[in-house]
Amino acid sequence: MNVVKISFIVLLAAIIAATNSCSSKNCPPKDKSASKENVQAGDGKMKDKVVMTDDQLRKKLTPEQYRITQKCGTELPFTGKYYNFKGKGKYVCVACGKELFHSDTKYDSGSGWPSFYEPADSNDIQLLKDTSLGITRTEVRCAHCAAHLGHVFNDGPPPTGLRFCINSAALKFIPDPNVPDQNIPDPNDK
Ligand SMILES: [Zn+2]
Repeated sequence: MNVVKISFIVLLAAIIAATNSCSSKNCPPKDKSASKENVQAGDGKMKDKVVMTDDQLRKKLTPEQYRITQKCGTELPFTGKYYNFKGKGKYVCVACGKELFHSDTKYDSGSGWPSFYEPADSNDIQLLKDTSLGITRTEVRCAHCAAHLGHVFNDGPPPTGLRFCINSAALKFIPDPNVPDQNIPDPNDK
């Protein structure tokens, strides 16, 4: 295979990865929550707003959790602690602790990021238009503290057809107390 062909394949793979992944290049300010940039999410407003100072967030979060939730960072696919985790319980926001997703709606999308077909409650997430990378996508944030979580795509399974592509580092798993002996990853690990 010649170099040109290999380069083309690498470029194509990069484009597909960029358009289907959680990766994000910009991070709109948090005060956009009530702007017309919102595309949907309950009534489009922040719920039970949790306000933390930057100092509090830096103390509470690991550097990786801070980078992803506060700077719209992205963990590499197949590296997060929850992408292949099948425990029973709920996933809360790593920054404010509000419930966001439940293990019952988690599925293996093959993307390398934890994937859910719906949030625990649509009022707990906030959806924002993201035009970074030269394409229009829908960013997913915590509706309580505006932490960046990932993106949502319309190539998910029934019943919603949605794929919430969420960074592990934005989540903390809380096990179902009725399901004993779950091998739970340390939320502070990468
Ligand atoms: Zn939050």
